[in-house]
Amino acid sequence: MSAPPLPVTAWIAHKRDGGELDDAAIRALIAGATTGRIPDYQLAALLMAIVWRGLTARELATWLDAMIASGDRMRLDGIAGVKVDKHSTGGVGDKISICLAPLVAACGVPVPMMSGRSLGHTGGTLDKLEAIPGFRTALTPRAFARVLGETGLVLAGQSARLAPADRLLYALRDATATVESIPLIASSILSKKIAEGADALVMDVKVGLGAFFSDRARARALARTIVALGNRAGLKTVALLTAMDEPIGMAIGNACEVAEAVDVLRGGGPADTRALTVRLGAEMLLLGKRARDLPDGSRQIEAAIGSGAGLERLRACVLLQGGDVRVIDDPRRLPRARHEVVIRAKSRGFLVTVHAGDLGRAATRLGAGRLRKEDVVDPGVGILLHGKQGDALERGAALATVRFADPARFAAVRPLIEGAFVAGAEKPRRSGRLFLERIA
Ligand code: URA
Repeated sequence: MSAPPLPVTAWIAHKRDGGELDDAAIRALIAGATTGRIPDYQLAALLMAIVWRGLTARELATWLDAMIASGDRMRLDGIAGVKVDKHSTGGVGDKISICLAPLVAACGVPVPMMSGRSLGHTGGTLDKLEAIPGFRTALTPRAFARVLGETGLVLAGQSARLAPADRLLYALRDATATVESIPLIASSILSKKIAEGADALVMDVKVGLGAFFSDRARARALARTIVALGNRAGLKTVALLTAMDEPIGMAIGNACEVAEAVDVLRGGGPADTRALTVRLGAEMLLLGKRARDLPDGSRQIEAAIGSGAGLERLRACVLLQGGDVRVIDDPRRLPRARHEVVIRAKSRGFLVTVHAGDLGRAATRLGAGRLRKEDVVDPGVGILLHGKQGDALERGAALATVRFADPARFAAVRPLIEGAFVAGAEKPRRSGRLFLERIA
């Protein structure tokens, strides 16, 4: 006997008119989305109604719970300690996870990290890790737990069985201009983090020219929603709003970002990359109950850099996940595109803008990311910066080295790269402010 029809049209209309959906309706909607019982056109209409009307705190909690219940939930109880993950809303040059996870693990907090692929103009940690020859990001739940148990960290992709409702709804949102909804983003991120078995989460919510939200009020609202929803669902959550006007560090691209993350683990690396790593690490140690306070956490992360313990953890993780560990000792072994061109300053003065969004879009078009889902990423292309906002410039000074495989693609993006660097006569006042707000 077939199931009775669901009153989906009535639920859509109720939400469209500003009504509140009851728990049974929400659970039926998410289950219907997962099984395919509710067609895409009805789901798309519902998502658009949610974009306009939002979800109440109670609706959102049920929505999240139903998304988690749509698939498997990892069991990491066999691994001692508070398991802490970090998630970024997406930045340009954001390689922080690659140096952060091993450092936090070296300080005694297990890090089960499930990351994503490049999205729009922002890079994805999975694509970066796959620049390491042989590195496997698709792990079975058993392999995921084994790597975590043996090395204290695991860097993998989301399996198809974790929060499948999110996978389906995200694809639909992407195609129907319904991604930009705070409750939908918050529940999408948290469903995956809770299903992967994390106990606590540090959210890095980016704000600025290269971020999902360039508007600080919207970024703050997202951070507050994630913190409230995560804590309500039993995932201890803290969020930082961090600046994303200029790229993080000096490297944009997959292989070159891995090399920069390794530099940080060796005690070098750009100041902002290191500062983000230390601060996010301190937050993770605090949530993992391994630090008394943030200064204590920062000291421990600095010590794990200084002793080389973080680098050792990354080496162990790369080895267990099938990667070529020789690239950790010698990053020159990483893939590198055949051609290089240096972009130079046309006038003297100060760098006022290094536009993260434009550089991210340029790197994507060179092949560092995907314009369409089926595009193949080139690990060796990228943009290496030679200056940051506020730096003094002479006419003809090198601004960036662009690595590319296809001269035609480079010619097409060259104006975008050149336009991303804006020089002015006066040193900009607010350059360098990285940490904007903490929401706990
Ligand atoms: N990242 C996610 O995982 N989900 C969203 O909805 C947006 C960004």
